[in-house]
Amino acid sequence: MIDAGSPQHGTDYPGTFGEFEAWFSTETACRSYIRRLRWPNGFVCPDCGVAGEPTEMSRGLLRCRACGRQVSLTAGTIFQDTHKPLRQWFLAMWFITSQKNGVSALGLQRVLGLGSYRTAWTWLHKLRRAMIRPGRDDLHGEVEVDETYVGAPEEGTRGRQTASKAIIAIAIEKNGRGFGRVRLRRIRDVSADSLLAFVRTTVEPGSSVHTDGWRGYAGLADAGYHHQVTVISANIDPAHVVMPRVHKVASLLKRWLMGTLQGGIQHQHLDYYLDEFAFRFNRRRSKARGMLFYRLAQQAVAVEPVPYRLIVSRDDVKPEKSLPLGPHV
Ligand SMILES: [Zn+2]
Repeated sequence: MIDAGSPQHGTDYPGTFGEFEAWFSTETACRSYIRRLRWPNGFVCPDCGVAGEPTEMSRGLLRCRACGRQVSLTAGTIFQDTHKPLRQWFLAMWFITSQKNGVSALGLQRVLGLGSYRTAWTWLHKLRRAMIRPGRDDLHGEVEVDETYVGAPEEGTRGRQTASKAIIAIAIEKNGRGFGRVRLRRIRDVSADSLLAFVRTTVEPGSSVHTDGWRGYAGLADAGYHHQVTVISANIDPAHVVMPRVHKVASLLKRWLMGTLQGGIQHQHLDYYLDEFAFRFNRRRSKARGMLFYRLAQQAVAVEPVPYRLIVSRDDVKPEKSLPLGPHV
């Protein structure tokens, strides 16, 4: 159901905030939209597997006419068990996708008029989990791979050592002279194990992988990749000329983390910020912001719900400031 056909402005998603308000003025309208996203080819009972128009009950319950099973419209989506109006969730998705750089939890709390910062923070994290399409394709063709460090400048560490910074592996497709799709992941260290595992799970075997001369990448050829190595120190070009794409992505990432999140983030949540960054970067050319809303809503109904307790321990919810991002990162 995901990526079936090409969604169209006006039939599949609203294009402006005015249109958004007209589309989603009631809970019923939001529910019909979710229903369309979940069952684009018509309702199929998850219990008996029979396709056919269900009976609509109250509060988003659908009853299968074949077996009588009642199915909650939001069960198995990130909206499952929510006590807030769907319209408010839809507004959150709209704001997140219509702002070029996204919103902070505080910004979302303000714009939705939510009573609690915790709710805004939790919603953002749930929605970030919907930004990665399940079963998405690996990168292929020619791909640049490198690592970068996120965190405050450290005294007394050099090169690839780090004490408290997060290490982010970046893979980006070359698209002529431009940028293709990007994948980012936090890695534990820059060992061959960590780096090869990253490449294996993000880049199709047989692709051409361009790295610097770090020994952690030495096993790429054995792992089935065409390994193109540029030893930066032996090359007269500075790194950003040799591998311009990963360096550009790294600097955009750091700027985005500092600007949008206004401070720092905790390492354990960084993965989801990386997902959001990739979601935005990979769709940066999309002219229609409504298309991003559509993709987010589509994925929000396709992912498994994450209980709040699995997202966060009680002490985690605080202004996003525990990983300082200094001016030199
Ligand atoms: Zn049934």
